[in-house]
Amino acid sequence: MAANTGTYLIRGASLLGGEPADVLIRDGVIAETGTGLSDDGATVIDAAGLVALPGMVDVHTHLREPGREDAETVETGTRAAALGGYTAVHAMANSTPVADTAGVVEQVYSLGQAAGWVDVRPVGAVTVGLAGEQLAELGAMADSRARVRMFSDDGICVHDPVLMRRALEYVKAFDGVVAQHAQEPRLTAGAQMNEGEVSAVLGLTGWPAVAEESIIARDVLLAQHVGSRLHVCHVSTAGSVEIIRWAKQRGINVTAEVTPHHLLLTDDLVRSYDPVYKVNPPLRTDADVQALRAGLADGTIDVVGTDHAPHPSEHKECEWAQAAMGMTGLETALSVVQHTMIETGLISWADFARVTSAAAAKIGRLEDQGRPLEAGEPANIILVDRAARWTVEPAKMATMGRNSPFKGMELPGKVVATFFKGHPTVLDGKLNTPYPHAASVGAA
Ligand SMILES: [Zn+2]
Repeated sequence: MAANTGTYLIRGASLLGGEPADVLIRDGVIAETGTGLSDDGATVIDAAGLVALPGMVDVHTHLREPGREDAETVETGTRAAALGGYTAVHAMANSTPVADTAGVVEQVYSLGQAAGWVDVRPVGAVTVGLAGEQLAELGAMADSRARVRMFSDDGICVHDPVLMRRALEYVKAFDGVVAQHAQEPRLTAGAQMNEGEVSAVLGLTGWPAVAEESIIARDVLLAQHVGSRLHVCHVSTAGSVEIIRWAKQRGINVTAEVTPHHLLLTDDLVRSYDPVYKVNPPLRTDADVQALRAGLADGTIDVVGTDHAPHPSEHKECEWAQAAMGMTGLETALSVVQHTMIETGLISWADFARVTSAAAAKIGRLEDQGRPLEAGEPANIILVDRAARWTVEPAKMATMGRNSPFKGMELPGKVVATFFKGHPTVLDGKLNTPYPHAASVGAA
């Protein structure tokens, strides 16, 4: 049973960018949609000119807790998520301790419930300690209160093909998915950036596209061989898009994600030696960016995943070679996707709902997320001012990370409101109050 979260009437929003309509939210669900709905008793939200979309679902977030609370906490990371338009995030397993047991995933799940800003769905590690040597207790994590369905050693590639095969076989028992960080380790030893013209000029060790593509090629064949489900994290090269397109044409059960930064930025930025542009996988070339956009538009790439990776300043404000890899992304993803995909005419707002919400919920098997904006559905809804333009100022963000590669850029689109289970976590573009999970403790 859901907590009583009140009654709200969203007045005149453009549903998925289409015709204006009203949406009545009552006790956590969409009670009614239509025009001219009666507002008796409801808190009315004037949404004229705003787009209503399903709450976004991130398949790839680093919340850093437990263990790196100097970088981010579940509280700060999920505040950032709510402000960015998310109602669910998958929390990656590379915490300290690693999320490789039922105990740790339940801890992360409980922290998410206590925070109340979004659904926090822990990702379980594939191997014990992310060490790539023995399988973690995947079944125990799946059966735990956290109901883990996605497993990943993200940050590190599961490079042993026997372990990868066994993981793919094991997760079939509970309809799970293995999310691979595709990076052949021997081909990328000591790499600092994309291998190409810019790395040659700068004299930095490069990270060749083939290091990503060779693992994806291997893994789609393994997934086909054992009849399991594979997800490819943060696809970054044109060649990777081609391999995934080929695999899907053959009916292989593979899904893939692209990050906002790989849809917009290129390795030319590394010429600045500003470590805010250091990331894994690295920023690639303009040809790769164009191929990723085309892949997302034609469905080869299923979802946008942020790979939100906050770091404390001392790990980023140092020389390039020493700097940590990663970028923040939760509070800029919507704007970057609007800028790169919608304003270029590549996708519609309905497509946006698919690649940021519905497809992501399906990959993670989140039944209450990514649903249509229809009566009877859970009220996970955001309202977006697509005409707004704003300048990215990392110091003003809710994430503790200041490492946004979009700093100083003017981007379109602002989240005005986020409804999580019928409760407004964000109103007027500002944090409101979290969903009161405590009210439903003990209920299903
Ligand atoms: Zn990764």
